[in-house]
Parts: sequence; C-alpha cells; structure tokens
Amino acid sequence: MRDCPRALFGVAQMWRSQRWPKVDGMTISSPRRVLIVGGGVAALETLLALRALAGDTVSVTMVAPNERFCLRTALCREPSAEEPSAEDPPASCDLRACAEQLGADFRRDTLHAVAGHQHRVRLASFATLDYDFLVLGLGARAHSAVPGALVFRDQRDAGHVWRILHELEREEIRRVVFAVPSGCAWPLPVFELALMTARHAERHAVPADTTVVSPSPEPLDLLGHEAAREVRHVLATHGVRFEGSSVPAAVRRDHALTLHFGGAIAADRVVTVPQLRGQRITGLHGAWWGFVPVDRLGRVEGMDDVYAAGDMIAFPIKHGGLAAQQADLIAQAIAHRAGARVPEPNPQVRVLHTQLRGAEHPIALRALLDDHGNPATGPGPERMPRGASQAGFQSAPEGLSPHLAGNALGRFTTPFLQKVVSYSAERCLVQ
Ligand SMILES: Cc1cc2nc3c(=O)[nH]c(=O)nc-3n(C[C@H](O)[C@H](O)[C@H](O)COP(=O)(O)OP(=O)(O)OC[C@H]3O[C@@H](n4cnc5c(N)ncnc54)[C@H](O)[C@@H]3O)c2cc1C
Repeated sequence: MRDCPRALFGVAQMWRSQRWPKVDGMTISSPRRVLIVGGGVAALETLLALRALAGDTVSVTMVAPNERFCLRTALCREPSAEEPSAEDPPASCDLRACAEQLGADFRRDTLHAVAGHQHRVRLASFATLDYDFLVLGLGARAHSAVPGALVFRDQRDAGHVWRILHELEREEIRRVVFAVPSGCAWPLPVFELALMTARHAERHAVPADTTVVSPSPEPLDLLGHEAAREVRHVLATHGVRFEGSSVPAAVRRDHALTLHFGGAIAADRVVTVPQLRGQRITGLHGAWWGFVPVDRLGRVEGMDDVYAAGDMIAFPIKHGGLAAQQADLIAQAIAHRAGARVPEPNPQVRVLHTQLRGAEHPIALRALLDDHGNPATGPGPERMPRGASQAGFQSAPEGLSPHLAGNALGRFTTPFLQKVVSYSAERCLVQ
C-alpha cells in the first residue's frame, strides 16, 4: 500500500470538473500531451496544478529518476542530547502512486536530450517520448565550493553536524565557522546551523566561537535590507560573529578557512552548503552557471513549447516556494493553451516566503523579488514579526508538521503534502 491518499481527492475533484474539450469552437479529439520531467517541488506542483486547472484537456506523463518526493529541510529540531531520529521524518510521498491517482503516467528514467524541433526527448534508457508541452524541473547540481569543509546538503547530513555539537560539548573543539560559498547557493541553512550551534553551546555552558563567513556584505541581504538588519541582530544576540564581504576558498591543514583575495579565519571545524550549478542536457542551452534562461512565463528561451521551473532556471535565488510559483504559472499557461477554461496567466512579482530557524524564536521572512532576483522596490521587501503566522501569500495550513511549518511551498503542494503526511503518519508509511 503506498501513501497516496484521499489527499488527492480535492485536486481530483477539480480535475473532473474541468471537462471543456473545445478550443475556438473546435472539438479537440485528443488531449494535449504534457511531459513533466523531474521529481522535486517544481515537478510535483506542476502535476498537481495541471490536474486542478487543465482537467482532461491534457494527458500527463511524469519522468523522474526517483520514485519518492522528499522535502529538503535543514535541521528542524532544537538541539538536544539525542541524535536526530526517525521520529521526525521529512515530508515525503510516493510519486508513482500520486501520479497514478491523478490519472498521469509515471516513468522512472532520466532525461538525456531534448529535440525541440521534433517535440521529442531521449531518456537514459534510450526510450524516446513525444510531447506537445514539455515542463522541466531538473533542479540544480550540488558542488563543493570549499574543499576540506563539511558540506551540509540537507537533513541527510544532520548526523555530521550533531557530531560537531558533541565535540563542542566535550570541549574538544571551540571555533566553528559556517561558510556561505561564492556563486549560487541557498544560504539560509548556514545561518540556521550557526544559530543552532551557538545556542547549543550556551545551553551546555561550554565555550564556543561561532562565525558566519559570507561573500555578501550583509547577512541574508538577498531578502532586502530590513531582513539583513534583523538577521544581523539575531546573530549578535546569540553571539554569532558575522564576517561579510569574505569569499571562502578552502580549509587548510590546521583547519583554518582561507579566503579568496587573501586572509584566513581560524577554525576547528568549517561547515558549508553546496554551490549550485545547472545540469548539461543535450539540446538545452545553459547560460549563467549552466542555468537555463526562461522568460517570465517560464518558457525556455529559443524553444517552442518547452517550459522550465525551479532551481534549474537562470534566476539567482533557489527556493522551493519560488519553484512552486513558477510551476503554477506554467501549469496555467499550458491549461489555457490546451483549451481549459482558465485565463492566460499574468505573472506577478515573485514572493519569497521563508522562516529562519535556529534562534530562540523562528523568524518569518518575506521578500518581493524583481525579475533579476533583487528585492523589489515599492512596498517590499518586508520583514514579518517574530513568530508571525504564515498568513498571506501561499499560506500554510494550520497544524502543519514541523517539516512543513515555515515552508510555504506551493498553492497545491503544501496542502497536498500536509494531507499525505497526516495520512501516512496514521498508517506509519512515511519513511
Ligand atoms: C538544506 C536546504 C534547506 C532548504 N530549505 C528550504 C525551505 O525551507 N523552503 C524552501 O522553499 N526551499 C528550501 N530549500 C530549497 C529547495 O529545496 C529547492 O529550491 C527546491 O527543492 C527546488 O525544487 P526543484 O524541483 O527545482 O529541484 P529539486 O527539488 O532538486 O528536484 C529536481 C528533480 O529533478 C530530478 N532530476 C534531476 N536531473 C534529472 C534528469 N536528467 N532527468 C529527470 N529527472 C532529473 C531529480 O531527481 C529531482 O527529482 C532548501 C534547500 C536546502 C539545500
């Protein structure tokens, strides 16, 4: 029995009510074929949104190398003496079962090439698939940009961080440096881990020097000046030093972190997050750092009927909530073009909505972003008060599991995952 539930009931109901097989007075004899490639937030949100908006004007096939969708999180739990355990599993679901419940085909495979002119893709298995619309949500490739540092990818590396905390407790080490890599990265976990480490040392009354090193002059300034000021204040309150305008290079044999353009920061342990780059796919043009350029509707530049969303696109901020917003626009555009009764999408300003955890209280942060990923002028960027609820855009439902709270992921994905998690928890099916 797989964890695909009545959670889909709402979406499936909307899907059944979307039976409008006419475009411009002509009856469409067969639904348009949509191929979604990827098994992350962008792909799942596209699938759910398409089923809600396009109904049976489209037939959907999903291709992903993983059968399980798993939410990526930093460490959600406050530090305690215990190792992280299976009692706090990240929200996840079985993609094949979900696709099948939604009337979509699921195929476990990997994309190798796109032949845009023929509207065809080639997969790792050498199979080819034809499409009318192709939606790519391939994510980004993670690289280590600071040789010698511990790379914290997500909850998979929680055990390594806990080892460092235990070393601090035993006073075997004192100086822990958290480094934001140069280039493109999701830096929030660096700040969360630094705060968590500082609080852990405080709680155990052991000495610790915790430092965040970042190429940016201000902490988390990608969310705007207000947010940067708030984060700087929180770091200072918890005794975390911030070294801005410093580009981490590598870890020396004496454990110090060397910096590009000279200098080093003394350390006993250095933790970083991966630097992200685009993936090379034959037939797809990669631009800045290999990321794929798209327009405001998610259409891949220079290709017809090919869309891309999420971490793979040439947008400097990589975040699940943004991936879901892009996926919603794409699903609406495809639904409209396929003949469903939905208006053409009207791209709005992007909203990044997240939570900084690790401090005494989680801090809700929200920024409006322009097309280049800069905090938009005008009403935003906006800092939400400490402990603020997720009211507003893409609000998270009440009673979310700790892994979903603060992850205002997507209009469809967030409530869907919440239902799957509740359903699975009841039946102990989340792994
Ligand atoms: C530690 C950490 C914590 C984070 N916390 C948050 C958070 O709290 N909130 C938030 O919104 N974001 C968070 N993020 C960022 C978020 O995880 C990403 O922005 C989001 O996962 C991007 O979604 P995506 O679908 O574009 O890519 P991914 O989730 O990376 O999914 C890509 C999918 O494509 C598949 N794929 C790759 N190559 C191919 C191929 N050639 N063919 C077929 N399939 C392929 C992969 O297997 C995968 O299923 C966090 C990131 C990290 C590292």
